[in-house]
Amino acid sequence: MSHIVDTMFPPEAEDRGGAATPLLAVNGLVKHFKAKNAVVRAVDGVDFHVAKGETLGIVGESGCGKSTIARLIMQIIAPDSGTLLFDGEPVGSAALPLGDFRKKVQMVFQDSYASLNPRMTVEDTIAFGPRVHGLSHKAAVTRAHDLLHRVGLEPSRFAGRYPHEISGGQRQRINIARGLSLEPRLLILDEAVSALDKSVEAQVLNLLLDLKDEFGLTYIFISHDLNVVRFMSDRVMVMYLGKVAEIGSSEPIFKKPRHPYTEALLASMPSMDPDNRTQEAPITGDPPNPINPPPGCRFHTRCKFVSAICANAEPVLHDVGGGQSAACHLANPQSGHPRLAAAA
Ligand code: SF4
Repeated sequence: MSHIVDTMFPPEAEDRGGAATPLLAVNGLVKHFKAKNAVVRAVDGVDFHVAKGETLGIVGESGCGKSTIARLIMQIIAPDSGTLLFDGEPVGSAALPLGDFRKKVQMVFQDSYASLNPRMTVEDTIAFGPRVHGLSHKAAVTRAHDLLHRVGLEPSRFAGRYPHEISGGQRQRINIARGLSLEPRLLILDEAVSALDKSVEAQVLNLLLDLKDEFGLTYIFISHDLNVVRFMSDRVMVMYLGKVAEIGSSEPIFKKPRHPYTEALLASMPSMDPDNRTQEAPITGDPPNPINPPPGCRFHTRCKFVSAICANAEPVLHDVGGGQSAACHLANPQSGHPRLAAAA
């Protein structure tokens, strides 16, 4: 694990909970937004953890709540309820005040241009955070140049440039360097490569993998693109209408999804194999309105396995083994879904 020059926090003080303690544990997270006379249930009771050094991918269609979760973790918006533990400490407690937490968690957004101040040079952009947190001007500039090297941009060429003078891929490298400037332990990447050309996207993904090893980072990788999530993630969390549909290790989920929504998402992935082209639409229509989500299983209005029980009883996440859990009555042998009896 590498540390940037002029480290502000001694490395031995970092890992307080030990390897078995998740870096982030999210419990009962709820966020509803008021809209005129209605309530949008953006995040509606979500639990998950992120282990130290892993990448958790979060996938789902637009409006599923994945970006709201990122903003809740970052404390950009306040949850209605729920708790966050960071390395075993409650966020916002005396042991982990918000100011300390905010240095340990950073975020990279999709829009590389809007994320940067057009009137600040690249060097100032990266050095700004460390200076605010007490580093001298000289040390902050040294750190900015070091980080520019680490993200593959030669400081002598790029330090004095402004955002409009560089490409989208270079801007996203600068956003990543800025994200690393306070030596975070957790980086949240919210559609961070979605706006890039495919060739540039591959370069930035490989850079992220290298930086993760070099700095001992943990990632939350949010994307609608299942191919990049598969490439990046150790575990995957599939969201649907503000809830977790399925969560588990990446390979089992991609090889044998246990939730029909995950299955439909995977079936809708573009394939280069002409013998493996999708013949029929695996999932139809838009997700229902989160203002008034369907009762029971929220996916029941689009699910090809729907039964009466699905509209009446909400399935909870059921452990199907191998670290995989799915919130579907078909994943629970005791649920009484008629398809289970037919298969028995
Ligand atoms: Fe489909 Fe029913 Fe499972 Fe929901 S609970 S995903 S409707 S089978």
